[in-house]
Amino acid sequence: MTVREEVRERIERDALLAKLRKKIESGKGTYADTAAYSVRAGKLLGEIFSRRLPEIPLEEREPLCVDLLHDQYIDINVAVDTVQRFRDEAQGFHLAPQHAPFDSERGHQIGSSLRDLSKPLEILQRRAKAATETATKAIHDDRMKSEAKFRYNAGLDCRITRVAVNGCCPWCSDVAGRYRYGEEPDDIYKRHDNCDCTVTFENGRKRQDVWSKREWEAPEPGAGAGDPVVFTKEQAEALQEKHGLTNPAENGTIQQGPSLRISMQFFAHRNSEDMPTIRLPKQEYAHVMSEIASHLTDDDKTSPVFVKRIGNYQYTVENHGFGDYRIIAKRRIKNG
Ligand SMILES: [Zn+2]
Repeated sequence: MTVREEVRERIERDALLAKLRKKIESGKGTYADTAAYSVRAGKLLGEIFSRRLPEIPLEEREPLCVDLLHDQYIDINVAVDTVQRFRDEAQGFHLAPQHAPFDSERGHQIGSSLRDLSKPLEILQRRAKAATETATKAIHDDRMKSEAKFRYNAGLDCRITRVAVNGCCPWCSDVAGRYRYGEEPDDIYKRHDNCDCTVTFENGRKRQDVWSKREWEAPEPGAGAGDPVVFTKEQAEALQEKHGLTNPAENGTIQQGPSLRISMQFFAHRNSEDMPTIRLPKQEYAHVMSEIASHLTDDDKTSPVFVKRIGNYQYTVENHGFGDYRIIAKRRIKNG
Protein backbone atom coordinates (compact mmCIF):
# COMPACT_ATOMS: atom_id res chain seq x y z
CA MET A 1 0.00 0.00 0.00
CA THR A 2 1.36 3.44 -0.89
CA VAL A 3 1.80 6.08 1.80
CA ARG A 4 -1.13 8.03 0.39
CA GLU A 5 -3.31 4.96 0.45
CA GLU A 6 -2.35 4.16 4.00
CA VAL A 7 -3.14 7.69 5.17
CA ARG A 8 -6.47 7.62 3.34
CA GLU A 9 -7.37 4.28 4.85
CA ARG A 10 -6.40 5.30 8.38
CA ILE A 11 -8.47 8.46 8.09
CA GLU A 12 -11.46 6.50 6.88
CA ARG A 13 -11.13 3.88 9.59
CA ASP A 14 -10.26 6.15 12.49
CA ALA A 15 -13.00 6.03 15.10
CA LEU A 16 -12.80 9.65 16.20
CA LEU A 17 -12.78 10.95 12.62
CA ALA A 18 -15.68 8.69 11.70
CA LYS A 19 -17.63 10.01 14.67
CA LEU A 20 -16.86 13.61 13.74
CA ARG A 21 -17.92 12.99 10.12
CA LYS A 22 -21.15 11.47 11.34
CA LYS A 23 -21.86 14.45 13.57
CA ILE A 24 -20.99 16.91 10.82
CA GLU A 25 -23.16 15.17 8.24
CA SER A 26 -26.08 15.04 10.64
CA GLY A 27 -26.05 18.83 10.77
CA LYS A 28 -24.95 19.05 14.39
CA GLY A 29 -21.32 19.84 13.66
CA THR A 30 -19.50 23.02 14.61
CA TYR A 31 -16.21 24.50 13.49
CA ALA A 32 -14.77 23.18 16.73
CA ASP A 33 -15.51 19.74 15.29
CA THR A 34 -13.85 20.51 11.97
CA ALA A 35 -10.88 21.91 13.89
CA ALA A 36 -10.73 18.72 15.97
CA TYR A 37 -10.95 16.82 12.69
CA SER A 38 -7.89 18.61 11.32
CA VAL A 39 -5.96 18.01 14.53
CA ARG A 40 -6.69 14.29 14.47
CA ALA A 41 -6.14 13.86 10.72
CA GLY A 42 -2.83 15.72 11.04
CA LYS A 43 -1.68 13.32 13.74
CA LEU A 44 -2.47 10.28 11.62
CA LEU A 45 -0.76 11.77 8.59
CA GLY A 46 2.31 12.76 10.64
CA GLU A 47 2.61 9.36 12.23
CA ILE A 48 2.39 7.44 8.95
CA PHE A 49 4.58 9.79 6.92
CA SER A 50 7.25 9.77 9.62
CA ARG A 51 7.21 6.00 10.07
CA ARG A 52 7.43 5.33 6.35
CA LEU A 53 9.91 8.10 5.55
CA PRO A 54 12.97 5.78 5.39
CA GLU A 55 11.44 3.81 2.51
CA ILE A 56 10.50 6.92 0.49
CA PRO A 57 13.18 7.75 -2.12
CA LEU A 58 14.72 11.18 -1.57
CA GLU A 59 13.41 12.67 -4.81
CA GLU A 60 9.87 11.57 -4.03
CA ARG A 61 9.68 13.14 -0.58
CA GLU A 62 8.86 16.65 -1.70
CA PRO A 63 6.10 15.89 -4.25
CA LEU A 64 4.62 13.28 -1.94
CA CYS A 65 4.49 15.74 0.93
CA VAL A 66 2.59 18.22 -1.26
CA ASP A 67 0.15 15.49 -2.37
CA LEU A 68 -0.46 14.31 1.17
CA LEU A 69 -1.25 17.83 2.32
CA HIS A 70 -3.47 18.41 -0.69
CA ASP A 71 -5.50 15.33 0.25
CA GLN A 72 -5.96 16.85 3.70
CA TYR A 73 -6.89 20.17 2.12
CA ILE A 74 -9.76 18.56 0.21
CA ASP A 75 -10.99 16.54 3.16
CA ILE A 76 -10.94 19.38 5.68
CA ASN A 77 -12.58 21.83 3.32
CA VAL A 78 -15.38 19.40 2.57
CA ALA A 79 -15.99 19.03 6.31
CA VAL A 80 -16.07 22.80 6.79
CA ASP A 81 -18.38 23.21 3.76
CA THR A 82 -20.84 20.81 5.34
CA VAL A 83 -20.86 22.50 8.75
CA GLN A 84 -21.20 25.86 7.07
CA ARG A 85 -24.14 24.81 4.93
CA PHE A 86 -26.09 23.67 7.99
CA ARG A 87 -25.14 26.67 10.09
CA ASP A 88 -26.08 29.13 7.37
CA GLU A 89 -29.36 27.37 6.83
CA ALA A 90 -30.15 27.65 10.53
CA GLN A 91 -29.39 31.36 10.36
CA GLY A 92 -31.52 31.79 7.26
CA PHE A 93 -28.99 32.52 4.59
CA HIS A 94 -26.38 31.03 2.37
CA LEU A 95 -23.01 32.46 1.45
CA ALA A 96 -20.66 30.79 -1.01
CA PRO A 97 -17.83 28.89 0.70
CA GLN A 98 -14.53 30.76 0.73
CA HIS A 99 -11.86 28.15 0.24
CA ALA A 100 -8.47 29.57 1.06
CA PRO A 101 -6.05 28.66 -1.75
CA PHE A 102 -4.03 25.52 -1.20
CA ASP A 103 -0.65 26.59 0.13
CA SER A 104 1.57 24.21 -1.83
CA GLU A 105 4.65 26.17 -0.73
CA ARG A 106 4.26 24.76 2.76
CA GLY A 107 4.35 21.20 1.42
CA HIS A 108 7.35 21.96 -0.78
CA GLN A 109 9.27 23.44 2.12
CA ILE A 110 8.60 20.55 4.45
CA GLY A 111 9.25 17.99 1.71
CA SER A 112 12.54 19.50 0.61
CA SER A 113 13.75 19.71 4.22
CA LEU A 114 13.28 15.93 4.39
CA ARG A 115 16.00 15.42 1.78
CA ASP A 116 18.69 16.87 4.00
CA LEU A 117 21.07 13.96 4.47
CA SER A 118 23.34 15.96 6.76
CA LYS A 119 20.69 15.35 9.44
CA PRO A 120 20.20 12.00 11.17
CA LEU A 121 17.17 10.06 9.95
CA GLU A 122 15.61 10.36 13.37
CA ILE A 123 15.59 14.16 13.10
CA LEU A 124 14.05 13.98 9.63
CA GLN A 125 11.36 11.66 10.90
CA ARG A 126 10.54 13.97 13.76
CA ARG A 127 10.35 16.82 11.30
CA ALA A 128 8.11 14.83 8.95
CA LYS A 129 5.72 14.21 11.80
CA ALA A 130 5.58 17.60 13.49
CA ALA A 131 5.64 19.71 10.34
CA THR A 132 2.89 17.85 8.49
CA GLU A 133 0.74 17.90 11.62
CA THR A 134 1.15 21.64 11.93
CA ALA A 135 0.54 22.15 8.20
CA THR A 136 -2.69 20.15 8.39
CA LYS A 137 -3.97 22.29 11.24
CA ALA A 138 -2.98 25.38 9.25
CA ILE A 139 -5.32 24.27 6.44
CA HIS A 140 -8.22 24.64 8.84
CA ASP A 141 -6.85 27.92 10.21
CA ASP A 142 -6.57 29.32 6.67
CA ARG A 143 -10.16 28.44 5.92
CA MET A 144 -11.46 30.03 9.12
CA LYS A 145 -9.50 33.16 8.37
CA SER A 146 -10.81 33.37 4.83
CA GLU A 147 -14.44 32.81 5.89
CA ALA A 148 -14.30 35.33 8.71
CA LYS A 149 -12.83 37.97 6.44
CA PHE A 150 -15.42 37.40 3.74
CA ARG A 151 -18.34 37.40 6.14
CA TYR A 152 -17.11 40.45 7.96
CA ASN A 153 -16.78 42.27 4.64
CA ALA A 154 -20.30 41.17 3.76
CA GLY A 155 -21.42 43.06 6.86
CA LEU A 156 -21.95 40.21 9.29
CA ASP A 157 -20.81 40.42 12.87
CA CYS A 158 -17.93 37.98 13.24
CA ARG A 159 -16.01 36.65 16.21
CA ILE A 160 -12.76 34.73 16.27
CA THR A 161 -12.16 32.25 19.06
CA ARG A 162 -8.89 30.63 19.94
CA VAL A 163 -8.98 27.86 22.51
CA ALA A 164 -5.75 26.84 24.21
CA VAL A 165 -6.02 23.08 24.51
CA ASN A 166 -5.10 22.00 28.04
CA GLY A 167 -3.39 25.31 28.59
CA CYS A 168 -0.92 24.37 25.80
CA CYS A 169 1.84 26.86 26.62
CA PRO A 170 2.06 30.34 28.20
CA TRP A 171 2.14 32.00 24.77
CA CYS A 172 -0.98 30.12 23.65
CA SER A 173 -2.79 30.86 26.91
CA ASP A 174 -2.03 34.49 26.34
CA VAL A 175 -3.40 34.68 22.84
CA ALA A 176 -6.47 32.49 23.58
CA GLY A 177 -9.83 34.19 23.76
CA ARG A 178 -12.89 35.29 21.86
CA TYR A 179 -12.51 38.47 19.87
CA ARG A 180 -14.62 40.70 17.69
CA TYR A 181 -13.34 40.52 14.14
CA GLY A 182 -10.62 43.09 13.66
CA GLU A 183 -9.80 43.18 17.36
CA GLU A 184 -8.10 39.79 17.49
CA PRO A 185 -4.35 39.68 18.19
CA ASP A 186 -2.16 39.63 15.07
CA ASP A 187 -0.81 36.23 16.02
CA ILE A 188 -4.17 34.56 16.47
CA TYR A 189 -3.55 32.08 13.62
CA LYS A 190 0.05 31.33 14.53
CA ARG A 191 0.96 27.98 16.02
CA HIS A 192 4.10 26.22 17.13
CA ASP A 193 4.76 22.53 16.54
CA ASN A 194 2.69 20.21 18.71
CA CYS A 195 0.16 22.95 19.40
CA ASP A 196 -3.38 21.60 19.22
CA CYS A 197 -5.04 24.90 19.97
CA THR A 198 -8.05 25.61 17.78
CA VAL A 199 -9.06 28.79 16.01
CA THR A 200 -12.66 29.09 14.85
CA PHE A 201 -15.00 31.88 13.80
CA GLU A 202 -18.67 32.46 14.27
CA ASN A 203 -20.95 34.98 12.67
CA GLY A 204 -24.13 36.66 13.77
CA ARG A 205 -27.25 36.57 11.70
CA LYS A 206 -27.52 40.28 11.32
CA ARG A 207 -25.26 42.91 9.96
CA GLN A 208 -24.08 45.70 12.05
CA ASP A 209 -26.18 48.79 11.60
CA VAL A 210 -23.55 51.49 11.49
CA TRP A 211 -26.04 54.33 11.60
CA SER A 212 -28.21 53.45 14.53
CA LYS A 213 -25.36 51.75 16.39
CA ARG A 214 -27.93 49.11 17.09
CA GLU A 215 -26.45 46.17 18.94
CA TRP A 216 -25.94 43.27 16.66
CA GLU A 217 -27.59 40.02 17.27
CA ALA A 218 -24.50 38.25 18.46
CA PRO A 219 -24.46 34.49 18.81
CA GLU A 220 -24.15 32.93 22.20
CA PRO A 221 -20.53 32.45 23.22
CA GLY A 222 -19.27 29.28 21.66
CA ALA A 223 -22.08 29.00 19.12
CA GLY A 224 -19.55 28.39 16.38
CA ALA A 225 -17.04 26.83 18.67
CA GLY A 226 -18.73 24.11 20.64
CA ASP A 227 -16.82 21.67 22.74
CA PRO A 228 -14.95 19.16 20.65
CA VAL A 229 -16.09 15.57 21.04
CA VAL A 230 -13.52 13.54 22.84
CA PHE A 231 -14.04 9.85 23.33
CA THR A 232 -12.03 7.17 24.97
CA LYS A 233 -10.63 4.63 22.56
CA GLU A 234 -13.25 2.11 23.66
CA GLN A 235 -16.15 4.54 23.26
CA ALA A 236 -14.87 5.58 19.88
CA GLU A 237 -14.55 2.01 18.70
CA ALA A 238 -18.03 1.18 19.92
CA LEU A 239 -19.40 4.17 18.04
CA GLN A 240 -17.53 3.27 14.94
CA GLU A 241 -18.98 -0.19 15.07
CA LYS A 242 -22.47 1.16 15.60
CA HIS A 243 -22.41 3.77 12.85
CA GLY A 244 -20.16 2.27 10.25
CA LEU A 245 -17.93 4.47 8.16
CA THR A 246 -18.69 7.49 6.07
CA ASN A 247 -16.50 9.60 3.94
CA PRO A 248 -17.69 13.10 3.14
CA ALA A 249 -14.94 13.51 0.57
CA GLU A 250 -16.80 11.17 -1.72
CA ASN A 251 -20.08 13.04 -1.55
CA GLY A 252 -18.86 16.56 -1.55
CA THR A 253 -17.50 18.65 -4.32
CA ILE A 254 -14.90 21.26 -3.85
CA GLN A 255 -13.75 24.26 -5.81
CA GLN A 256 -10.09 24.98 -6.07
CA GLY A 257 -8.89 28.38 -5.07
CA PRO A 258 -10.68 31.28 -3.51
CA SER A 259 -13.96 32.52 -4.87
CA LEU A 260 -13.91 35.86 -3.17
CA ARG A 261 -15.82 38.32 -5.27
CA ILE A 262 -17.12 41.00 -2.99
CA SER A 263 -18.91 42.97 -5.65
CA MET A 264 -20.87 39.96 -6.83
CA GLN A 265 -21.39 38.35 -3.55
CA PHE A 266 -24.78 37.04 -3.09
CA PHE A 267 -27.02 36.81 -0.13
CA ALA A 268 -29.70 34.49 -1.34
CA HIS A 269 -32.13 35.31 1.16
CA ARG A 270 -35.36 34.63 2.60
CA ASN A 271 -34.43 36.70 5.58
CA SER A 272 -33.06 39.91 4.24
CA GLU A 273 -36.48 41.39 5.09
CA ASP A 274 -35.47 41.19 8.72
CA MET A 275 -32.62 43.58 8.15
CA PRO A 276 -33.29 47.16 9.15
CA THR A 277 -33.32 49.76 6.40
CA ILE A 278 -30.25 51.94 6.41
CA ARG A 279 -31.29 55.57 6.08
CA LEU A 280 -28.78 57.56 4.12
CA PRO A 281 -28.53 61.33 3.91
CA LYS A 282 -30.48 62.57 0.89
CA GLN A 283 -27.47 63.32 -1.30
CA GLU A 284 -25.72 60.08 -0.56
CA TYR A 285 -28.94 58.18 -1.19
CA ALA A 286 -29.34 59.82 -4.57
CA HIS A 287 -25.73 59.08 -5.47
CA VAL A 288 -25.98 55.44 -4.42
CA MET A 289 -29.23 54.93 -6.36
CA SER A 290 -27.73 56.47 -9.46
CA GLU A 291 -24.58 54.34 -9.16
CA ILE A 292 -26.68 51.21 -8.74
CA ALA A 293 -28.83 52.09 -11.73
CA SER A 294 -25.81 52.61 -13.96
CA HIS A 295 -23.76 49.64 -12.78
CA LEU A 296 -26.30 46.92 -12.31
CA THR A 297 -25.08 43.60 -13.64
CA ASP A 298 -27.31 40.84 -14.94
CA ASP A 299 -26.48 38.86 -11.83
CA ASP A 300 -27.55 41.74 -9.60
CA LYS A 301 -30.84 42.04 -11.48
CA THR A 302 -31.80 38.49 -10.68
CA SER A 303 -30.47 38.50 -7.11
CA PRO A 304 -32.81 39.20 -4.24
CA VAL A 305 -29.88 40.86 -2.51
CA PHE A 306 -26.69 42.22 -4.00
CA VAL A 307 -23.67 44.13 -2.82
CA LYS A 308 -22.16 47.23 -4.45
CA ARG A 309 -18.97 49.05 -3.66
CA ILE A 310 -19.42 52.74 -4.16
CA GLY A 311 -16.61 55.09 -3.16
CA ASN A 312 -15.26 54.00 0.19
CA TYR A 313 -18.33 52.06 1.14
CA GLN A 314 -19.91 48.76 0.46
CA TYR A 315 -23.70 48.73 0.34
CA THR A 316 -25.86 45.67 0.66
CA VAL A 317 -29.09 46.13 -1.23
CA GLU A 318 -32.34 44.22 -1.14
CA ASN A 319 -33.73 44.02 -4.64
CA HIS A 320 -37.49 44.25 -5.08
CA GLY A 321 -37.25 44.42 -8.83
CA PHE A 322 -36.94 47.15 -11.38
CA GLY A 323 -35.54 50.10 -9.54
CA ASP A 324 -37.06 49.28 -6.18
CA TYR A 325 -34.09 48.88 -3.86
CA ARG A 326 -33.74 48.90 -0.11
CA ILE A 327 -30.34 49.45 1.46
CA ILE A 328 -29.87 47.05 4.34
CA ALA A 329 -26.18 47.42 5.16
CA LYS A 330 -23.41 49.88 4.70
CA ARG A 331 -19.84 49.28 5.64
CA ARG A 332 -16.73 51.28 5.20
CA ILE A 333 -14.23 49.39 3.07
CA LYS A 334 -10.98 48.91 4.89
CA ASN A 335 -7.91 49.83 2.89
CA GLY A 336 -6.14 46.75 1.59
ZN1 LIG B 1 -1.12 26.01 21.49
